[in-house]
Amino acid sequence: MRSLSDIQNLNGVRVLVRAALNVPVAGGKVVNTFRLRGALPTINYLREKGAKVILMSHISHKETPSLAPMWEAMKEFIPNVQFVADIVGDEARNAVAALAPGDVLILENLRQDAREEGNDEEFARELASLGEIFVQDTFDVCHREHASIVGIPKFLPSYAGLLVEKEVAELSRALAPVAPSLAVVGGAKFSTKEPVLKKLLTAYDRVFVGGALANDFLKLAGNPVGVSLVSGEHEEDIKELLKNDRLVIPVDAIVAPKGGSRAEGRVAELGDVKDDEAILDIGPKTVEMLAEIAQNSKSVLWNGPLGNYENGFTDGTEGVARAIAGSGAHSVVGGGDTIAAIEHLGIGEQFSFISTGGGAMLDFLAEGTLPGIEALNS
Ligand code: ADP
Ligand code: MG
Repeated sequence: MRSLSDIQNLNGVRVLVRAALNVPVAGGKVVNTFRLRGALPTINYLREKGAKVILMSHISHKETPSLAPMWEAMKEFIPNVQFVADIVGDEARNAVAALAPGDVLILENLRQDAREEGNDEEFARELASLGEIFVQDTFDVCHREHASIVGIPKFLPSYAGLLVEKEVAELSRALAPVAPSLAVVGGAKFSTKEPVLKKLLTAYDRVFVGGALANDFLKLAGNPVGVSLVSGEHEEDIKELLKNDRLVIPVDAIVAPKGGSRAEGRVAELGDVKDDEAILDIGPKTVEMLAEIAQNSKSVLWNGPLGNYENGFTDGTEGVARAIAGSGAHSVVGGGDTIAAIEHLGIGEQFSFISTGGGAMLDFLAEGTLPGIEALNS
């Protein structure tokens, strides 16, 4: 993987940067600039060397169709940053042609053009023609085969930006943890977590499964799970994993009637989940058990909420977040809900590395690389 320091000359060069400007927007305004700030090191490196920087990003249409709010927010960090409400049309080409060394231009939301997610080759060629060099600086979409991820590198000399370089270094390191080590995987849907679980079981001394994912394991281990969310997938594989000594499953739970609030919930021992109750979080004994393992570990990895976080079942996720933060272990964490919990507690600085990837982090851990990373090597 080539990095920015491998680029010989940047002075006056048009550099097309795939960035992560997909930050939360409410009422037409950016509400959290964490990711925008993460894009700055690469942008500033390029500007200082006299490059003409062209920034591309996606934002999901559910949040906002346009990157205009991100442009407004970016002005705080780059006062003369420019924006064009176009992607590959004449307006975009004219704005690019008018750039001077050190200038920064943001193009419109890539997903306004369906060819981005369709990985259309012609769209990738049109995007590539705006620049002379391509820099990949978003990690969280590198598991997707989109035009700006795997298409553009076919047409331009391509490099990893500082953010992607750091993600790859940190997550590669997390695949070779210092013992004793603990991996914690939460969330839902066994089929999407199976590859990473299998990989982590080869690398980590203890692998804990929590969240809705754990319900499958608890059920197949012979425990009543009432009306809990259970994927019911790959039962034979789960039974096989249950035989692995490294696998750790919850020892208690917080249960509530389906759709019930945290206030209606109660702590239950594993055998004591009633037919009309759902397991919605790990229980306090499980949090204590994990805290103790983390305390005795040198490396800890964590992705995914351990309970139905957004509906108020936050005790397990927050308890484990605090325990890992205070463990003194080298800690690597990621995933949208996981980061939200850490930010809510204001303990972000206590983790060694916070990955910007959710699905991308899991896929990287499972495969050791991603399509968007491989594309930079060809
Ligand atoms: P997604 O890809 O949809 O984000 P994840 O695998 O990250 O899925 O799973 C996160 C989801 O799992 C969250 O919506 C969280 O509330 C839910 N979840 C976690 N534990 C439970 C549980 N015990 N019961 C129901 N939902 C749960
Ligand atoms: Mg998720």
